[in-house]
Amino acid sequence: MLLTISTTHHPATDLGFLLHKNPARTQSFDLSFGRAHVFYTESDETRCTAALLLDVDPVGLVRGRRGPPGEGRTLEQYVNDRPYVASSFLSVAIAQVLSSALSGTSRERPELVNTPIPIIASLPVLPARGGVEFVAGLFQPLGYEVTVQPMPLDPKIFPDTAAPYVAMTITATCRLTDLLSHLYVLIPVLDNDKHYWVGEDEVEKLLRHGEGWLAAHPLREEITFRYLKRRRNLARAALERLVAEDEADPDDAAEKHDREEAVVEERVRLNDQRLGAVTAALRQCGATRVLDLGCGEGRLIQALLKHRQFELILGLDVSHRALDIAADRLHLDRLPPLQKQRIQLIHGALTYRDSRLAGFDAASIVEVIEHLDPPRLAAMERCVFEFARPKTIVITTPNVEFNVRFETLPAGKLRHRDHRFEWTRTEFQTWAGRVAARFNYTVRFVPIGPDDAEVGSPTQMAVFQVCN
Ligand code: SAH
Repeated sequence: MLLTISTTHHPATDLGFLLHKNPARTQSFDLSFGRAHVFYTESDETRCTAALLLDVDPVGLVRGRRGPPGEGRTLEQYVNDRPYVASSFLSVAIAQVLSSALSGTSRERPELVNTPIPIIASLPVLPARGGVEFVAGLFQPLGYEVTVQPMPLDPKIFPDTAAPYVAMTITATCRLTDLLSHLYVLIPVLDNDKHYWVGEDEVEKLLRHGEGWLAAHPLREEITFRYLKRRRNLARAALERLVAEDEADPDDAAEKHDREEAVVEERVRLNDQRLGAVTAALRQCGATRVLDLGCGEGRLIQALLKHRQFELILGLDVSHRALDIAADRLHLDRLPPLQKQRIQLIHGALTYRDSRLAGFDAASIVEVIEHLDPPRLAAMERCVFEFARPKTIVITTPNVEFNVRFETLPAGKLRHRDHRFEWTRTEFQTWAGRVAARFNYTVRFVPIGPDDAEVGSPTQMAVFQVCN
């Protein structure tokens, strides 16, 4: 795998002083996963290009493997893309072979370290997990002009299929230390197969190399989650420290609160059980056209799509940010047309009458009502039960009685800072009974999660069925 860095700064050969590598020589370094070579393909006063070539040894990698215990050796461990693509190995090589340049020190040209110079960096094979637009979206906000070229697979074998790799060139007038920090963090973000264990020190590395730019990056959540391999606890810790740097966007705060709630509830993997219970209720009633009101980041929609029974799933949310994440999670931009036409995501509020919600068999409102101000609940009731009027309506909400069982939740606190209320079982059942009677539905209640003899289950679900 290869990274080239060029400059037209005058004199361009100063690049050698910034990289601490003499343009006249080729140097090689032994690393734990292979060898790195640094050499220059051109170097004169007007233009200088340094290349970092990594020779990854896939067989050596398997031999020296310190991966999860008990993992069998498969062909894929020997035959894979590691030697050919820019991956987290390249980040490690940047940190080890170009460490002074990465940290921004230069003995011979200390003043140049902090001088923006014209730089062009090229990665001829970069994994593009998330698609071409995502790649551009990572680098453009940092001020780079980005060229991304998708790579075709062999058209004889895979007609019309792009490989999950791109060739990328980024250009900017910037400090070399910044460019290397951006590459250090963002290359592993694009690569699914992060080779090393992700532990606490990865949070430190992310924050150190993300200093000064990650907190303000529009994709900082996605970058953090992916860099830390979606280890929620680590990502949350990192984001909290990043958010402390820049606490402005209310949507960001909402996401942070969602993560806090996820941590509180993690012990019982409640979210999965909730999705399972709601999916089961929707399947059972025979619905084919389903509304997910307050769909958030699209987790339920993703679960429902697995069942052919559901021909159309419409997700509605007030948060544009949540809808964007949902579109990303569901890969809306790349789905084959038949799959894509099963999903609609719309912006709207379930407290306003909306003709787009008519004509559906069922609706789910999962962990949403507790976000509504109690006076707005009545508006939601009319919109859903009177105007949209699907035959089946599934509503879930926390059971506040269970909160004493969450070890990490201080007494008397709600699970989520944006919850306007959390109800006891009696409060929920009284409300649901009243709504059912008013709009001519029947209602039954289902506990979700471990059903504690004293305090009940963590989530409560009501399934309403229209009376004819
Ligand atoms: N149902 C999802 C999300 C729950 S979080 C899940 O279980 O994962 C609550 C969601 O309700 C948020 O995405 C929030 O934006 C949305 N929401 C809050 N008030 C709303 C309203 N009045 N209309 C529509 N969506 C609303």
